[in-house]
Amino acid sequence: MAIQVNKQLVEDGKVGAMIEWLASIGETENGGVTRLLYSSAWLEAQLELKSMMDQMKFHTYFDSVGNLFGRLPGTEGNNKTILTGSHIDTVVDGGKYDGAYGIIASLLAALRLLHKYGNPKKTVEVVSLCEEEGSRFPLTFWGSRNISGAYNLTKVENIKDGEGISFLDAMTQVGFDPKLYSSPVRTDIERFVEIHIEQGMILERNQNQIGIVTHIVGQRRYTICIKGESNHAGTTPMNFRKDAVSTASHLISFLTEKAKHTDPMLVATVGRLNVKPNVPNVVAGEVEFSLDIRHHEEKIIDQYCQSIFTEFKRISDVLNIAIDILQWMDVKPVKMDEEMCEWASEIAEKKQFRFQKMISGAGHDAQVFGGACPTSLLFVPSRGGISHSPKEYTNLEDLETGIELLTEVLYKLAY
Ligand SMILES: [Zn+2]
Repeated sequence: MAIQVNKQLVEDGKVGAMIEWLASIGETENGGVTRLLYSSAWLEAQLELKSMMDQMKFHTYFDSVGNLFGRLPGTEGNNKTILTGSHIDTVVDGGKYDGAYGIIASLLAALRLLHKYGNPKKTVEVVSLCEEEGSRFPLTFWGSRNISGAYNLTKVENIKDGEGISFLDAMTQVGFDPKLYSSPVRTDIERFVEIHIEQGMILERNQNQIGIVTHIVGQRRYTICIKGESNHAGTTPMNFRKDAVSTASHLISFLTEKAKHTDPMLVATVGRLNVKPNVPNVVAGEVEFSLDIRHHEEKIIDQYCQSIFTEFKRISDVLNIAIDILQWMDVKPVKMDEEMCEWASEIAEKKQFRFQKMISGAGHDAQVFGGACPTSLLFVPSRGGISHSPKEYTNLEDLETGIELLTEVLYKLAY
């Protein structure tokens, strides 16, 4: 039955219908999608996509972690591959477009080129990457980082999901037996192109149809722990307190103001706050808060961190309160390939698309590939900037404009 549906979809080649079809696999009652890595919905989606690629006359195969590839062999036979695609996994109750649009757009673009011009000179492969979001297991980019060689099975040996299922068992359950693992590292990828929804509101605000990403931001995350002294709220005079909440509020105001004045593109977020003992009539003895910092230039992040942590030290000394700073994430900023940015801009200009160059504040598979080969990341608008939600939406015209641009970019790269 499903294969029948695919046949009609393949013949029509309509992006809207294909988005709905893929979103029906793992559909939630809120109208969202949940396709966690190695779940039954995940497996069904990958197998359905494979069947669709087969019908489109792509040569299909899985690597040993479950990345799915559809290959159009090149006529030049130089063993170089132009790779395009995005990720199949979602967050819990995510949207229909995040990841899925990039796979469908890549498929349709490659298919249109195949129908119009026959096989490419350089091999083109469409990839449905197995995992990017980190929604089931505490790691991200499992798909692309296996291809780049940054990850292998040793990375997940001791990892479990929220229900206590081990990563390796989950893999085995959907038919990717770790005992049969052979390295998915690819050395033949000449260039990678990903198209994705923006997940922000810049394009919509500027009434643009296309974003050409120049950089993907770097991200640092910290846990800041303030250790004061818990005491009676009625009997402890203000001057004798070591109040962790009051100290935290000072630090947070400082880092927020400093972020505003360091660079317009810098963002710093305190999203989580734990207070101990968290009782109304007790001076708090301990506060722990998270800090997420992003910018596309490492030196700006360095400069910002140095200035706020100097102030943290000063406050710690003045108030005689311990402030511990624990860093647990450091993702470097990645620059997209300049030449590919220019090519995409020239095409967009020729086609009279409304486009702009921009920075991606969110992480994408393109940042993993960007460290290994010339890479390009293209955006289409997200309505209201909403993503990771059933409310995620991009209109058909914008989806189609993205595919048109991607088609031309792939033509330039592979034909
Ligand atoms: Zn995504």
